[in-house]
Amino acid sequence: MIIDGKELAARLKSGMARRVAQLRELYGRVPMLAVVLVGENPASRSYIRGKIKAAGEVGIESLLVELPVTVSESELLANIERLNADERVDGVLVQLPLPDHICENRVIASIALEKDVDGFHPLNVARLWRGEECMLPCTPKGIMRMLADNNIEADGKRAVVVGRSNIVGLPMAKSLLNANATVTIAHSHTKNLGDITREADILVVAAGCAHLIGADMIKEGAVVIDVGINHDAVTGKLCGDVDFEACRNRASYISPVPGGVGPMTICMLMDNTIECFERRRK
Ligand code: NDP
Repeated sequence: MIIDGKELAARLKSGMARRVAQLRELYGRVPMLAVVLVGENPASRSYIRGKIKAAGEVGIESLLVELPVTVSESELLANIERLNADERVDGVLVQLPLPDHICENRVIASIALEKDVDGFHPLNVARLWRGEECMLPCTPKGIMRMLADNNIEADGKRAVVVGRSNIVGLPMAKSLLNANATVTIAHSHTKNLGDITREADILVVAAGCAHLIGADMIKEGAVVIDVGINHDAVTGKLCGDVDFEACRNRASYISPVPGGVGPMTICMLMDNTIECFERRRK
């Protein structure tokens, strides 16, 4: 079975559009997402285009704040402070990566907790790891929805997450742990990666290495979720970390790239923006 993230995201977004219309009726306004872009990184610009387009589809208002690559950290922080204080703004997102002269951690921590749509604020991270209610980062949240939509139960399963970044690998591992899976995290220092990944009933790969996972590295019947976004060295086409063609007949469920985790990540950003709006109103 191919897990079609694009189709699921479209389905969820039409439900969200209905919810946003209700919010307009109830409160006389819709959620607003502020997106801050520093510099001209083409990948960042393309991600932001996708986010703003999705907001439009759902009826969420968006506000793009574009700053030059030379912006100082204090100027960036002042912009975030303005968005934090702006009553019309429900969610604030700073597109990463930031230029080297700016401390990402300081910037992330400066976003108002109640507007932290990415769920990267240290207090949100702490809440996730303490098992408290939190704003879950969009990629793991989207993956948990993909599993749920396909009635894939994590409870009691062996799960392996390849990658340990703050954005994907770690919150993914904790989400699976919260769902009662037994979780192993692999990374670039892991020896004999295949021995680890072959144990997985649920394998989530977020390494950023094209074709890292071949058919011989997955268990027959495994659920394989591919987070990676790479360009194939030969064809130049977009591809994941998993050799999709080789693995699709061995896996029970597999998500493709493109059309898998990517659309779900953007969709969950909309979900988090609505959640921020609703929490602020409470
Ligand atoms: P990072 O580069 O921050 O982290 C990559 C992780 O993978 C690191 O923990 C690294 O280990 C590990 N890793 C790298 N190479 C190997 C290897 N050969 N074997 C085992 N582990 C390895 O990336 P992100 O977590 O931000 O993103 C991962 C991928 O997912 C990227 O391709 C990114 O573009 C994509 N992505 C996709 C999203 C989507 O919506 N589809 C959203 C976010 C990211 P170590 O810690 O030891 O360096």
